[in-house]
Amino acid sequence: MKIYNTKTRQKEEFKPIEEGKVGIYVCGPTVYDFIHIGNARPMIVFDTLRRYLEHKGYEVNYVSNFTDVEDKIIKRSIEEGIPANEVSEKYIVECKKDMEALNVRPATVHPQATQEIPEMIEMVQTLIDKGHAYEKNGTVYFRVRSFEPYGKLSHKKIDDLESGHRADSHALKVTGEDEKEDALDFVLWKPKKEGEPSWDSPWGAGRPGWHLECSCMSKKYVGDTVDIHAGGEDLIFPHHENEIAQSEAANGCEFANYWMHNAFLKINGDKMSKSLGNFFTVRDICQQYDPQVFRFFMLSAQYRTPLNFSKELVEDASRGLDRILNGAEKLREIADKKNGRFIMDEEQRILEEEMPKFIERFDAAMDDDLNTADAISVIFELVRFTNANTSEKSSSNFADCLYRILFELCDTILGIHLERAAVDIADDDVAQIEALIAERTAAKKEKNFARADEIRAQLLDMGIILEDTREGVKWKKA
Ligand code: AMP
Ligand code: ZN
Repeated sequence: MKIYNTKTRQKEEFKPIEEGKVGIYVCGPTVYDFIHIGNARPMIVFDTLRRYLEHKGYEVNYVSNFTDVEDKIIKRSIEEGIPANEVSEKYIVECKKDMEALNVRPATVHPQATQEIPEMIEMVQTLIDKGHAYEKNGTVYFRVRSFEPYGKLSHKKIDDLESGHRADSHALKVTGEDEKEDALDFVLWKPKKEGEPSWDSPWGAGRPGWHLECSCMSKKYVGDTVDIHAGGEDLIFPHHENEIAQSEAANGCEFANYWMHNAFLKINGDKMSKSLGNFFTVRDICQQYDPQVFRFFMLSAQYRTPLNFSKELVEDASRGLDRILNGAEKLREIADKKNGRFIMDEEQRILEEEMPKFIERFDAAMDDDLNTADAISVIFELVRFTNANTSEKSSSNFADCLYRILFELCDTILGIHLERAAVDIADDDVAQIEALIAERTAAKKEKNFARADEIRAQLLDMGIILEDTREGVKWKKA
């Protein structure tokens, strides 16, 4: 498999540190509110990467954190008059509900920054001991110039950063910044402020800086070197650059072999932002659309391509997914039907030989830097192949073989269920629907086709689609 590595700016053949095993660390959300649909992009994309690596036979250790101590959480706790840990606990629970709705599997471990403070203090001490960090009045800073490769991920030069900082120095100055040895230095440990959560440390009570959290949690749960470190592209600088500096300076080895960054999700072509008011939470969207449709939409673009969110594009995705689900339903019906045809005929045996090529082409697309857009095109071809070559008379074995392939590609790897979610319909409504269907059947018997059509239209208005089959009339939610 080839992966585009932000560090080298090229696609590279993926080779794990340990054969057959992959360690992945994905920066997770700061939990101060419901997650928005932009946050869902790295969750869905890297969950799909994990599923694909498992399909290829790797054992995957997938770690994704929750940042549960941070300025935005503290601000929220002050606004709501509740402790910061109540804010973060609440939104971790809500985030997990959203992940479940989007069929994002729980990580192997979901570490939380507040549970890993001793490890963070230890890393800060190591950095001080090695001369990479220093303390001033309760704040500990990382000495950026002590880490020679600084800028290697974002391809920035230290001197350019320095002059940028000088130009902005007034705007950037925050409390305590004057004490820094160098404007580039960043905070590892901040001193306690009144009313904020804090932990004791050799430098006084305080809390860790955001970058430090990920360095420590990836070290503890994946190892000093992770195979793949991932997140959204906004994290390349400074977050990931600073993680590299801390981890490599402390551990003395490469921090991550492959860096994967997803491009942003935009709204109607604009950057999604709270201040512009053009953002949606995953919760909002899952009330308007089937979460499956949203996951399918998210995977309809390769992860490094910016993706635009609009009603029209989600509706396109919904129609596309319908074609796949209809194909799957047809296969299930043939496979389950006891039509007495189990054994494939000669023609079907020849067609069966063509089936592995769909898996090969799907894998080729995914091997090319997780190109889910091309992989989905292969699924559409498989559905066309299915529709062209199956009928009620097909052997159940033939339909079953096709279904298993479709299931592996779509359900197991892309995480899109092949069955539509059951829609809750109240018992009274079901009774009304069934009474109307009975009336329509009677009307047809009496050759009153006008009334029969009228009832079909009435049901359609209620969002119910009828299907006349040999076993009688079936209905489903539109
Ligand atoms: P945050 O809570 O802001 O740290 O974001 C959590 C994850 O969501 C990070 O990997 C971000 O890069 C990612 N992210 C935030 N906004 C977007 C967006 N509009 N599109 C794609 N990814 C995003
Ligand atoms: Zn991180």
